[in-house]
Amino acid sequence: MEYFFNEKEKQLWQKAHDIAENMVCPIRDELDEKAEFPLGLIKEMGNQGMFKIFIPEEYGGTGVKIMDMCIAVEEISRICAGIATAYSVGALGSGPIVYYASDEQKKKYLPKIATGEQLCAFALTEAQAGSDAANIQTTAHKNGDYYILNGVKQFISNASVSDVYTVLASTDKTRGARGISAFIVENNFPGISFGKEEHKLGIRASVTSELVFEDCRVPKENLMAKEGFGFIYTMRNFDRARPGVGAIALGIAQGAYEDALDFLYKHDLLSNQYVQKKIADMATEIEAARALIYASARMIDSGAKSFSKASSFSKLYPSDIAVKVCTEAIGLMGPYGTLKEHYLEKRLRDAKITQIYEGTNEIQRAVIALEITREMGKKYKA
Ligand SMILES: Cc1cc2nc3c(=O)[nH]c(=O)nc-3n(C[C@H](O)[C@H](O)[C@H](O)COP(=O)(O)OP(=O)(O)OC[C@H]3O[C@@H](n4cnc5c(N)ncnc54)[C@H](O)[C@@H]3O)c2cc1C
Repeated sequence: MEYFFNEKEKQLWQKAHDIAENMVCPIRDELDEKAEFPLGLIKEMGNQGMFKIFIPEEYGGTGVKIMDMCIAVEEISRICAGIATAYSVGALGSGPIVYYASDEQKKKYLPKIATGEQLCAFALTEAQAGSDAANIQTTAHKNGDYYILNGVKQFISNASVSDVYTVLASTDKTRGARGISAFIVENNFPGISFGKEEHKLGIRASVTSELVFEDCRVPKENLMAKEGFGFIYTMRNFDRARPGVGAIALGIAQGAYEDALDFLYKHDLLSNQYVQKKIADMATEIEAARALIYASARMIDSGAKSFSKASSFSKLYPSDIAVKVCTEAIGLMGPYGTLKEHYLEKRLRDAKITQIYEGTNEIQRAVIALEITREMGKKYKA
C-alpha cells in the first residue's frame, strides 16, 4: 500500500530502517536473553536525532508529530519490540512536559531529552491503580518550597535507567481523580529509589521496575501546571501515545509475516491453498492495522479536539492482530516456528505485552464503547 509519506517522513523511515537493520538486529537476541537495556544504542539513537521527533522545535526538537513516532517505532519494532519500547517510552515520559509544563520547565528539561542526554519515563501504575487510574495512592504533600512524595509505582518502563520522570501523585485524596497532580521528578532527588526489577515474558530489552518514593523532596516549581490537573493530562497523553503502542504491535506483526513468508517461499509451500488463505488474511490484517494507526496519527496531528476513540482503535486492533499473526506464523512453519533462530517465539512473547501495557485491550474496548454511547447520546439529544 502507498501511504504518501512526505519527504521528512521518508527520511525518517530510512533512518529508522538503517538503525533497525544495522544496530538493533545484531544485539536483539543477547538483550532479550539477558533482559538488558540497550543504553549504548539508545544514546546513539539520541546522537542520530531520533528523540528530536518527540520534542517541539523551540526546545531543540524537530516538531512533535504522532505520525513520525509511528513510522520510527514500527520500523524498529519490526526487528525488536523490546528496543522499540525502550525508545518510545521517551515519548510517553516527555509528552506531559511537552503539552502541559510551563515554559521554564520545558526549557529546563526538553533540550536534554531531545538529544538523548537525559532519558525520561512515565510513572502512573501502582498495586491498586492502573486500569483504575484514579485510584492512585502515592501522595504529595506540600511542605514549604517542596512537595513530599510517598508511595510505590510498579511496572515502570525504563525506571532504573531514566534521568527524569513524569510522576502522578495525589495532592488531595478527598477529590479522587481531581486531586491527582503531575510532577517532574529527577532521579537524584532525595528519597527516590528503584525497587524490584521485573523478569518479563517479552519486551525484555525495556527494563521494568518499581519506583519508590520515601519522603522524596520535589521542588514546588516541579509541579506541572496546577494541582489536580494530573489525571486529565495523563488521559490526554495516553490518547496521543497509543498509536505508538499500535505501531510497536504492527512492527511485530510485520516482522513475523516477513519471516514466515520467506520460510514458506524457500520451502515451496506458497502454492498450498491452506497456506495461501492464511497468508492472505495475515497480509490484509497487517495492512488494516497500518491504515488504522496512520489514520489515527494523522487525525491527532491535524489538531482534532477529540480522538480517544481513534486512539483506542489504533492500539486495540494492531495488538490483537500481532498476537494472531505471530501465532499463525508459528503454526505455518510447524516445528521450525518454535525455534529461537526464527524469532517467532520472541515476537509472540513481545506481542502479548502490547495487549496489556498502556491500558489493557479490555480498557480500550471500554473507552470505544463509552465514546460510541456518548455519540448516540448527542445524536438523540440534538
Ligand atoms: C511491560 C510493561 C510495561 C509497563 N510500563 C509502564 C510504564 O512505563 N508506566 C506506567 O505507569 N505503567 C506501566 N505499565 C503498567 C500497565 O500500563 C498496566 O499494568 C496496565 O494498564 C493494566 O493495569 P493494572 O496493572 O491496574 O491491571 P488490572 O487492571 O489489575 O488488570 C487485570 C485484568 O483486569 C482487567 N480489568 C481491569 N479493569 C477492568 C474493567 N473496568 N473492565 C474490564 N476489564 C478490566 C484488565 O483488562 C486485566 O485483564 C507497564 C506494564 C507492563 C506489563
